[in-house]
Amino acid sequence: MSTESEDVFDFAIIGGGILGVSTAWQFKKRYPKSRITLIEKEPSLACHQTGHNSGVIHAGVYYQPGSFKSRFCLEGNRATRNFCQTQHLPFRVPGKLVVATDDAEVLRLNHLFQNCQRNGLEVERLGARELSALEPNIQGVGAIRVFDSGIADFVAITGRLAELLQAMGGQIRLGQRVVEVSDCLFGEHWVGKHLVLCDGKKRFSRIQAKFVVVCGGLAADRLVKMDGAKLDNLNDGVGVTSFRVVPFRGEYFILSDRCCELVNHLIYPVPNPKLPFLGVHITPHVDGSVSIGPNAVVGWKREGYGRFNVSLRDAWSLLSFPGAWRLLSAYPRPALDEWMSSWFKDVFLRRVRRYCPSLTLSDLARPHVGVRAQAVFSNGRIVNDFLFARTASSLHVCNAPSPAATAAIPIGQYLVEEAEKMLRGVIV
Ligand SMILES: Cc1cc2nc3c(=O)[nH]c(=O)nc-3n(C[C@H](O)[C@H](O)[C@H](O)COP(=O)(O)OP(=O)(O)OC[C@H]3O[C@@H](n4cnc5c(N)ncnc54)[C@H](O)[C@@H]3O)c2cc1C
Repeated sequence: MSTESEDVFDFAIIGGGILGVSTAWQFKKRYPKSRITLIEKEPSLACHQTGHNSGVIHAGVYYQPGSFKSRFCLEGNRATRNFCQTQHLPFRVPGKLVVATDDAEVLRLNHLFQNCQRNGLEVERLGARELSALEPNIQGVGAIRVFDSGIADFVAITGRLAELLQAMGGQIRLGQRVVEVSDCLFGEHWVGKHLVLCDGKKRFSRIQAKFVVVCGGLAADRLVKMDGAKLDNLNDGVGVTSFRVVPFRGEYFILSDRCCELVNHLIYPVPNPKLPFLGVHITPHVDGSVSIGPNAVVGWKREGYGRFNVSLRDAWSLLSFPGAWRLLSAYPRPALDEWMSSWFKDVFLRRVRRYCPSLTLSDLARPHVGVRAQAVFSNGRIVNDFLFARTASSLHVCNAPSPAATAAIPIGQYLVEEAEKMLRGVIV
């Protein structure tokens, strides 16, 4: 354990979204005497993806058995519900219906049903009549009912994890951006990390940490580059050594008050298996509101939520990346459809009216936006699973798309276990 100056830590965690906070909390539980600091560049926690998502506790319908996504989602579903229950945080488990609207979708629905069974989920196949008995406002030719899908407030969960971390003596530094990462020697044997931090007034400070975990969300690729980390073995991108974060805006509408009782379950379309996003769905929230969304449109500013937000740095990062061009040229039609749904409310609405015909334009009360950090390989392939990178004394979460909020607790556990293997007894 270090006994040096105030600014020397055993563990530093970069990123104050749900993954960073969950990971810091679990390091502190595992090593109660260690000195831990969590560094977040914004003035509060959960400002980005964690604070702009659908609030769904996923069950594991879509993920390939054996993948990180499947494993972490199944464990995360139980862990999140358990955490909310024991911490008295709001959550509900209304279940989810995945609704097919034509014969082509029924075929894909059957594949999804088999996948649910392979993942060991409690599911039921419904015909059109059973569907409309459960959901009078929803129409379709068939559906899957997934019993364990739920809803939660991931900002509240992050906040509670942070309180627990601080109660155990962990430190949280807000408004401090990590701008430099380099190696530094601890004693004779351990090369840890030196971090340079910059606050909003351009004042710089330095800290040292024996081990660093980076959960940087939309900045994940830049932090990997800053630290010179190498990607872990890939199942999914053989021969590829680099990736970039492509920001995908996800636009929603909160529905008018008359729609508060529109549905009893989460209602999802059958997704296109080639695309990583689940399609525009109807989601009740724990505060009683109901939303529809999100679509998926490439964004020009990674952490920009306004429609006209552009960052020259982020736009250049996208335009100069061959992987983004390859991806867009592989899916020109879906890209155009998504773009149209972003600019024309009636196109957006049409996607939901296929299975919920009673909705009208006047029901789309308030817009709401999130930006997904989607890693894309340089060959244009979307990174489907969670992806990690490392140096000798740091671990990076490079790709943590949905269901990462659901999966935050097991992902944090995984990072602690991986760190333990790497630390070889350096920290007691
Ligand atoms: C539209 C949308 C809908 C989604 N729906 C769901 C859902 O229903 N269920 C689900 O399970 N998941 C969902 N997700 C996914 C989930 O929200 C994210 O995967 C999860 O929040 C990722 O958490 P994170 O901590 O990795 O990232 P973030 O919450 O983005 O946090 C990363 C943090 O790192 C900080 N940071 C970056 N660079 C630095 C630096 N240099 N120094 C210091 N701090 C830095 C950022 O400020 C940020 O706070 C959705 C995501 C989106 C965008």
